[in-house]
Amino acid sequence: MKLVIAQMKHETNTFSPVPTPLARFALAGGAPPEGAVAIAAVRGTGSAIAAFIDLAEEAGAEFVVPIAASAWPSGPVDDNAFEFIVGRICEAVSHGCDAVLLDLHGAMVTQTFDDGEGELLRRIRAIAPWIPVGVALDMHANLYDRMGEYATVLSGYQTYPHVDMFETGLRAGRAVLALLAGTARPTMAWGRQPMLPHVMRQGTDDSPNRELQARCREMEAQGALSASVFVGFPNADIEFAGLSAVVVTDHDADLARRLCDELLAQAWEQRAAFVYQAKPLAHSMARAQALAAAKPPGSGPIVLLDHSDNCASGGTMDTMTVLGAMLDAGLDDAAAFAVFDPDAVQRMIMAGVGAQVTVSLGGKLDMPAIGLTGAPRTVSGRVKLVCDGLYRNLGPMSRGELVSMGPTAVLDTGPVEIVVISNHVEPHDLAAFTAVGIAPERKKFLMLKSRVHWRAGLKTLAHAVVECAGTGVCTSDYAALGLKRVRRPIYPIDAM
Ligand SMILES: [Zn+2]
Repeated sequence: MKLVIAQMKHETNTFSPVPTPLARFALAGGAPPEGAVAIAAVRGTGSAIAAFIDLAEEAGAEFVVPIAASAWPSGPVDDNAFEFIVGRICEAVSHGCDAVLLDLHGAMVTQTFDDGEGELLRRIRAIAPWIPVGVALDMHANLYDRMGEYATVLSGYQTYPHVDMFETGLRAGRAVLALLAGTARPTMAWGRQPMLPHVMRQGTDDSPNRELQARCREMEAQGALSASVFVGFPNADIEFAGLSAVVVTDHDADLARRLCDELLAQAWEQRAAFVYQAKPLAHSMARAQALAAAKPPGSGPIVLLDHSDNCASGGTMDTMTVLGAMLDAGLDDAAAFAVFDPDAVQRMIMAGVGAQVTVSLGGKLDMPAIGLTGAPRTVSGRVKLVCDGLYRNLGPMSRGELVSMGPTAVLDTGPVEIVVISNHVEPHDLAAFTAVGIAPERKKFLMLKSRVHWRAGLKTLAHAVVECAGTGVCTSDYAALGLKRVRRPIYPIDAM
């Protein structure tokens, strides 16, 4: 038995001005890892591709990993990057194999294709029409029919923050191996609802997604090979952005259809609970100050979530609206993670640790798709630390994976320690802070550019959370995004 195992992961925010060349799919620039280097990079991590490798080894299967390509979310993927990655995968398939196992995101938009994953699967099918293809997808996949038509099994994460990527890989991989062994015949049904759940209301700690995902697990406990609800990624102006479901049964098409329709109906019933209403920023700042005044000694930080500028949803990570409001309000004993500004980092490295500097911070990237120009802020402080920005995640999300912030500096203004980075990294792991010598649990305020993933490694530290509506391409305001290509009518843009 021979398997082709590969990864191609990107969540595309079509409003993001951050480019997506091939180098973004590699930790240190250049091209993504291939073959033995790729295997070494992913083995033992909490990723779906690591689960595929474990399953292949357990089964005594021969396997190749032509490429392991994963990039932080950003704008549409360059055509030549897509062609490079897809070319590597298709070349491996063309050499012959019994099955393909793919670790994909499911919301990749390229310069040419609205469904990068559908195009990859179409090309695999053109080479190998009959072999099983198992796919692990992110919960934020935007499902196109081509993905359902060309894949044998589609399985999605059931947690947000995503702490079950590995388990999702096991689910998709086991169904395919059972098919090869002749012990199961995976049969899949899929469908969509015309709804765009707000990301801020998608966390699985909260209703209604908690109950939807629990129902998926119940279906699996009762015999379904896989059941997934994809809440979708709405910051993508494409026809089929939004919620979908996929159920895989063992050779029972009627049951798969019925269970899938049940999940879709349950989601539709709860559509109003997926709507997020942001509070004005001034209100959030006042609330943070009131919470701080009443905070018991020794309790953890008040987390200020800058949710409109989350780089793990394609944010530039350099808008200064929320951090600026904190500085204006005089919030003290605070840390901020992070501002993406490679130029400011270089200036601080040149100045050296301990130097007093004044820098033009953030706001370097314009956001023409939402009509905003970058607005830097002049900030003075002491260079507290510079480092190479490398750390390994502790987990539970993406555990064991090596992360690169690129050259990194901490600018200490007195009231606020600002982490300034050269690669996009969302704060969801305690190691992001220990890497730069900050103990977040001891701070009064913690500003995070994140929406839901921060909960994975940092929620237990927090005394309270204040959601702060700043500026950026991850805004929850669909009117500000001006979605034009998504199918209509769709809830909540249209009253339905
Ligand atoms: Zn996701």
